[in-house]
This record gives sequence, structure tokens and C-alpha cells, in this order.
Amino acid sequence: MTSIDQLAKHFERFPGIGPRQARRFVYHLLSENPDALTSLASAISTIHTKMSLCTQCFQYFARDNGTMICDICNDTERDNTLLMVVERDSDIPPIERSGTYNGYYFVLGGTVPLLDADENIRVRGGALKGIIDLRLKNDLAEVILAFSVNPDGEQTARYIEKLLESYTERNQLKISILGRGLSTGSELEYADPETIKNALRNRT
Ligand SMILES: [Zn+2]
Repeated sequence: MTSIDQLAKHFERFPGIGPRQARRFVYHLLSENPDALTSLASAISTIHTKMSLCTQCFQYFARDNGTMICDICNDTERDNTLLMVVERDSDIPPIERSGTYNGYYFVLGGTVPLLDADENIRVRGGALKGIIDLRLKNDLAEVILAFSVNPDGEQTARYIEKLLESYTERNQLKISILGRGLSTGSELEYADPETIKNALRNRT
């Protein structure tokens, strides 16, 4: 295996990247100047020491505020009654930019695919319940499920609704779904502020 093949194999593990794109990345790197490559390599090798996983919402944050939790979880001015569950870290910035949501978040870490028997290995169901228990003591009233509008997103919403059944049965929590207002197949990560605003207003 050549060095090009080896590096291409790394890129093929990235989300949405196939063998052809992976090789294009490698050829792009070959055309870059050595300083740019050294800077890239250094940014990659130090990312784990510079970023931490928030122990409350599980999004990555810059480890410079001296705490174990991110700036959003640290912000006591936010709405305690709302917790939004998203698939990935990258879903949070577009919602923040829309300026219409002021509650807290939880990053599930993925979806529960329709054809997967062992869901627990892929999403943070147990941690979600832990955070809900904690936040219930702090006025939490509604969990908003903000997943992609596709079969995996719907399956994940059903899975979480089932997981949280004991809370809804005891009327401790309302669970709402952001899906309406987002068109079928759309991903939150790419939604514009107006769409997110409508989806939040029309959640059921
Ligand atoms: Zn956090």
C-alpha cells in the first residue's frame, strides 16, 4: 500500500467521504506547501488536549473556561424548563444562530437506525436519563426531540419516547418533536434560521 493509499484510508473514515473524494483530499495535500501541512498535522494532534466533552450536554467545547461543562450549560440565564435532544454537536450552532431557542441541549451522539438490533451502543440513552433526572429537580418540563426528518430520525424519536415513557406516564415531562416545519429529508445542521424558528413554533 502506497502512502497515498494509506492517507486516503484515513479520509474514507470521515462522514460522507467515499474512496474518490478521499484520494482527491490526498492529492490536494500533496499540492499544499509544507508549512500548511505541519500546521494541519499539529491542529489534528492537539485537538484532544484543547477540546473537552461537556459532562452535561456531551458537546465538545474549548477547554479554556476551567470547568467540566460548556458555556451553554454554564449559562444560568437560559430557560431551565427546556431540554433539546439533538443528534450531533453540529446541530447546535444553527439553532443558536436562529436566536429562537434559549433552553439547554443534549447531544445523543447519533441515531438509532431502523435496521439495528443493538441501539444502546450508538446513542447516549442512559446519560440522557441521568441528565433528565438532574434537570427535573431544576424545573425541567419539556424535552424537545430535534432529529433529522428521515426514517432513522423518526426511529430515534420513537426510541427516545419509549425510553422516557416512565416520565411521561407520571406527567413529569412533556415530549415534543421538532419535525414539523422541516421538510422531509432535511437535516437540522443545514436548516436556515427561519425554518428553525417555524419548526420550534410548530413543535408538537
Ligand atoms: Zn454542555
